[in-house]
Amino acid sequence: MKQQSESWVPIPADSDFPLENLPYGVFRAENGENHIGVAIGDSIFDLREAAAAGLFDRALPDCAPLGAPTLNQLLAFGRATWSAIRVRAKQLLSSDGEAVHRAKNAERMVIKQRDVMLKLPFEVSDYVDFYSSIEHATNLGKILRPGTEPLLPNWRYLPIGYHGRASSVVVDGTLVVRPNGQAKLPDSNSPAFGPTKALDIELEMGFVTGRSTRLGEPIPVEQAREHIFGLVIVNDWSARDIQAWEYQPLGPFLGKSFATSISPWVVTLDALEPYRCPGPPQEPPPLPYLEQKEDFSYDIELQVFLQSAVMHQKHMAPAIIAKSNFKAMYWSMAQQLAHLTSNGARIPAGGLYASGTISGESPDSYGSLIELTWRGTKPLKLPSGEERGFLEDGDTVIMRASAHRDGLPRIGFGEVRGTILPAE
Ligand code: MN
Repeated sequence: MKQQSESWVPIPADSDFPLENLPYGVFRAENGENHIGVAIGDSIFDLREAAAAGLFDRALPDCAPLGAPTLNQLLAFGRATWSAIRVRAKQLLSSDGEAVHRAKNAERMVIKQRDVMLKLPFEVSDYVDFYSSIEHATNLGKILRPGTEPLLPNWRYLPIGYHGRASSVVVDGTLVVRPNGQAKLPDSNSPAFGPTKALDIELEMGFVTGRSTRLGEPIPVEQAREHIFGLVIVNDWSARDIQAWEYQPLGPFLGKSFATSISPWVVTLDALEPYRCPGPPQEPPPLPYLEQKEDFSYDIELQVFLQSAVMHQKHMAPAIIAKSNFKAMYWSMAQQLAHLTSNGARIPAGGLYASGTISGESPDSYGSLIELTWRGTKPLKLPSGEERGFLEDGDTVIMRASAHRDGLPRIGFGEVRGTILPAE
């Protein structure tokens, strides 16, 4: 691992947020208002204060978007502006050159992350969930439709997805109430209504769009980067018993829509550029509108941890239950975006487009409990001696992600955490 670049802000050696990262978030400032900032080490650089002091005048002549309470206005600008702000922020926070002198003024714009509350970084204007991991789709086919071909014939031709609801996307730390719903009674063709008995997680990454399109305007694969601002970790909570009863013929509905949690820092595509890598081979070759000439996968390691209420009481650390990697995804974000807009559907600034559960080949790399425990038949053993098929009330799930490449510093996403409350 390479030494991080120097900043005048102290950065712990193992930090997710070296100077090379500078992910965007929104925090509740001392004055009670929401400010945009970038994470650096254990701190946040307050971009609203910095813009108000004139430090971003050259990168963004009208600094209003940096004074907004969410990232949406900034997202609308597009890549040239995003990159100019990033370059300027890096310069201001770096130890060398002109920035040192500038930094003296900037010191008061740095706050500790632990002293503030992080908010949902953007107003989620659209939400789509894809199904782009071939390992996950194959596992779920085996579990939900045993005895049939697990991968349906369309799967290798298009990035399958569904339009979800944006209204219950929540930020890291939000408590998740166990949903009620209809689930089929065992050995019967009729359902009962009540709290889900199969509450699950989905380990995903999501990309955040900017530079909205107009209706009827498709985004070609090679233009995708102009519209993707950055990525977050997504935990797409799922109630498997509700899902299994409702999903045919139209797809996921209430088994998915009660909550989706995202990490609070949006790691920019600019920061992730050095970690771009080839994806898996695609066979058969995609149709021309999905053809991809460049690499558009990213080497992002993912981890899932679980801590039960008992473990929490006994001060036992969260146990790791899965490790996966974003680069294994069969369909890339560029192909997802090209497919999504190929019929002329509009992309708004602040859209969230999630990858679908990211499972690898080995059983310890599965990104959901339904796969890790094979629908509860092979329960996980926790260090407390407890077992888990699906989530219990009081369980906390934590997902972490970081991008890696030999010779470069690791850049991280922070984490997305959620604790389950009993049904109401
Ligand atoms: Mn999902």
